[in-house]
Amino acid sequence: MICDSHAHLNHDDAFQDDREQVLLRAREAGVDCILNVATRPDDAAATVEVARRHPQVLAAVGIHPHEAALATPAALDDLERLSRDATVVAWGEIGLDYHYMKAPRDVQCAAFASQLQRAAARDLPVSVHNRDSDQDLLDLIHRHAGPRRGVIHCFTSDWAMAASCLDAGFYLSFSGILTFRNADGLRDVARRTPAHRLLVETDSPYLAPVPHRGARNEPARVVDVLERLAEVRGVSAGEMAAITSENFRTLFGQLTESSNSRAGG
Ligand SMILES: [Zn+2]
Repeated sequence: MICDSHAHLNHDDAFQDDREQVLLRAREAGVDCILNVATRPDDAAATVEVARRHPQVLAAVGIHPHEAALATPAALDDLERLSRDATVVAWGEIGLDYHYMKAPRDVQCAAFASQLQRAAARDLPVSVHNRDSDQDLLDLIHRHAGPRRGVIHCFTSDWAMAASCLDAGFYLSFSGILTFRNADGLRDVARRTPAHRLLVETDSPYLAPVPHRGARNEPARVVDVLERLAEVRGVSAGEMAAITSENFRTLFGQLTESSNSRAGG
């Protein structure tokens, strides 16, 4: 089993026309487990719906830092209701992004803090986005994250930040960036991360790994990330698949088992 711990199958219209084929290709590539992550109040219901219809898909609901201004109490109440669906195993995508700064810093911090609290109240792990915002991210995690913790998705910071996130109990998920030629620093972080905290992801439709860089990404290509991670750590791809899918199960709970049984075994 191979798990893609972060994909956006309902992002705008990226998979509007061929979502079924994309999921079939994932299955053929051995990707039996995909976390489909919402980014806005208005894509959350569709994100959950895809998980309901496809046994290999699980869902996360939340509001991305780019959309932080949309995180009103009413919107969060709606997400909380949606999060009670059996397919929802995480709260996300949430976090901070000071690179694009599409919402003011204080608005991002407030949206992040309140969603960490919502996740903790629902006992859900979080899927966290971080770009150029290490210090505030750590502060808010230490203040508001629940005991289930979560994952820093598409990890790209340095080892000092990795160590802080690991100390805080978080998993680190590596994306196609791991395959980029200029990513030696990131590969070093991936080499040093304890095996029991590693996850892999595509962040589809973004971040297609080499040799597909620039194309629309899709969950089947998590295999390229997995193979690169295995190479970096000097283990077989099969071993890396076993480790990361076990970690997926540990972090997101029993639902990958039930998603298997929904598939008929
Ligand atoms: Zn994402």
